[in-house]
Amino acid sequence: MSDKKVRVRFAPSPTGGLHLGGVRTVLFNYLFAKKYNGDFILRIEDTDQTRYVEGAEEYILDCLKWCGLEPDESPVAGGPYAPYRQSERKSLYREYAEKLVREGYAYYAFDTPEELDKNRKEIPNFQYGQAYRESLRNSISLSEHEVDQLLDAKTPHVIRIKMPADGRVTFNDMIRGPVSFETNQVDDKVLLKADGMPTYHLAVVVDDYLMKITHAFRGEEWLPSAPVHLLLWEYLGWKADMPQWAHLPLILKPDGHGKLSKRDGARLGFPVYAMNWFDPNTGELTPGFRELGFLPEAFLNLLVMLGWNDGTDQEIFTLEELIHKFSLDRVSKAGAKFDFEKAKWFNAEWIKKLSAESLAPKVKAVLADKGIEVADEAYLLQVIDKVKDRCVLLPDFYHQSAYFFRQPAEYDVNAVKPKWTEAKTDFFHAYVAKLQAVTNMEPVALESEFKAFAEEKGIKAGELLLPLRVMLVGGKFGPHVFDIAQLLGKEETISRIEKAVAVFAN
Ligand code: GLU
Repeated sequence: MSDKKVRVRFAPSPTGGLHLGGVRTVLFNYLFAKKYNGDFILRIEDTDQTRYVEGAEEYILDCLKWCGLEPDESPVAGGPYAPYRQSERKSLYREYAEKLVREGYAYYAFDTPEELDKNRKEIPNFQYGQAYRESLRNSISLSEHEVDQLLDAKTPHVIRIKMPADGRVTFNDMIRGPVSFETNQVDDKVLLKADGMPTYHLAVVVDDYLMKITHAFRGEEWLPSAPVHLLLWEYLGWKADMPQWAHLPLILKPDGHGKLSKRDGARLGFPVYAMNWFDPNTGELTPGFRELGFLPEAFLNLLVMLGWNDGTDQEIFTLEELIHKFSLDRVSKAGAKFDFEKAKWFNAEWIKKLSAESLAPKVKAVLADKGIEVADEAYLLQVIDKVKDRCVLLPDFYHQSAYFFRQPAEYDVNAVKPKWTEAKTDFFHAYVAKLQAVTNMEPVALESEFKAFAEEKGIKAGELLLPLRVMLVGGKFGPHVFDIAQLLGKEETISRIEKAVAVFAN
C-alpha cells in the first residue's frame, strides 16, 4: 500500500431504494477505509436528471445511519471536497471535456436523438464508435469550419470519448486480478450531455480524482465501464493517481441463476431492499429488511458473508471484528447465492447475542405497535432475556412476550380440555391456596413444591404442567413455566390460574 491516506467512496445515483448489493458495496468500502484509518465518502451521483427520484437521497442517508456506516464526508456532513452532490458541481466538468476535445481524445457530436434512433432501428447492433463515427455528424466527420458554425449557432451537441482503434486496456482489479478489454468492443460513450451535465463516466473520473479517492469498490455490473474510465484517467493525465479498483461479485438468486433482482424478492417472498422504499412516481412500496424485523448488526453480518469469509468457520462477526479481519484476498470472485433462511438465521443469532438492554428500545417499539405500553423497564429486560432465544425477527417479540404484559385473551383449549378432569380442577384450586402462602418464587423451589404437591394429590406432574403453561401463557409455547410464574409474580400467577380453571372446568 502506498503512504497516501486511504479514501474510498460510495457513489450511488438517487434513483430508488437500496438493493442489498448496494449496502454490501457500502460495507466493503467502509471496512476497507476503517481498517486502514482512512475516510469513507458518500457522493451522490445525480447527473442523470431523468432518473432522479424524489426522496431517494434521504433514503440512502437513512439507510447508512440505520446500518451504522456513517460517512466521514457527505452532502450533509460536508467535508474538504464539497459539494458532494454532482448536480451541484455541474460547472466543473465541462472544462475537462473540452480539454479532451482539444487534445483529440474526444469530439463534439451533433446528431439529434431522432437521427440516432433511426440508426439504431436500421443498423443491427448499432454502436456509436469505430465503425460508424465517420459517417455521423460530429467533429471527426465534419470540417473545422462546419463545426465552428454549428457551435456558433449553439447547435445542441454532446461530447463523446474517441475510443482508440484496436487497443487493449488492462488493469489489475484488487479482487479479480488482471482484467483486459478490447477497445473496439466499447462504444464512444457520451461524456458531456447536451444540457451541459456530465454523464456518469466523466463525472465519476473527475470526482474520484478531485476527491483524492485511492480505492474504489463497486458492483461487478460496472466492470464494462472500466475501460472508458481507465482511458479517461490516462487522457486527463492523471493515471498515476487512479484509484485501485475492486469489482464486487454479484449477489445471485437463490438458485444461482442470475443476479438477484427486486422482482425475485416479490416472487419469492423476501425483501431485497435494505429498508421499505416507497416510490413516489409509481406509488409502489418495496419491502425492506429493516421493517421486516432485521437488526442492522445481522443485516451487515449476512451481507459481508455474501462473498467474504475469514478462512475459518466463524460466521458471526461484529463490525469491530470485521474492520479488524476484513481482507480483500478473501473476497470471492464468484457470485454469492442469496439464501433467505440463512439470512433469518443470522438475525436469530444476533438477537441471542445482543443484551436485553440493547434490544429493549426495539422490542418496546414492537410492543407499542400492538398497543402494549411498557411501564416497567427492569421487568421488560427480564422478559427479553427469557424470550429472546425464541425470536427470529423482531416482531416475534410480540407473540413471545405479550402474555407477560397482559392476561391471555384466549387459551389453546384443545391442548387442555380433552384431558381435563375434576381432579385437576381440585388440584389447581388447592394449588392456588398453597401458592398464597408461598414466599419464595424462585423457579427451582416452585417446581419442586409443585411436583411434590402433585404427588401428594396422586396426579402425575407431567399432566399438570402443560395446563399450567396454557393458563399462564394462553398457548403451548414460551420458556420454562416456573420462570414465567416467577416473572409474573405470585398475585398475577394466582389470578391467571383461577381464571383459566374456570374456563377449563366448564
Ligand atoms: N453512480 C454509480 C451507481 O449508481 C456508481 C458506480 C461507481 O461506483 O463507480 O452505482
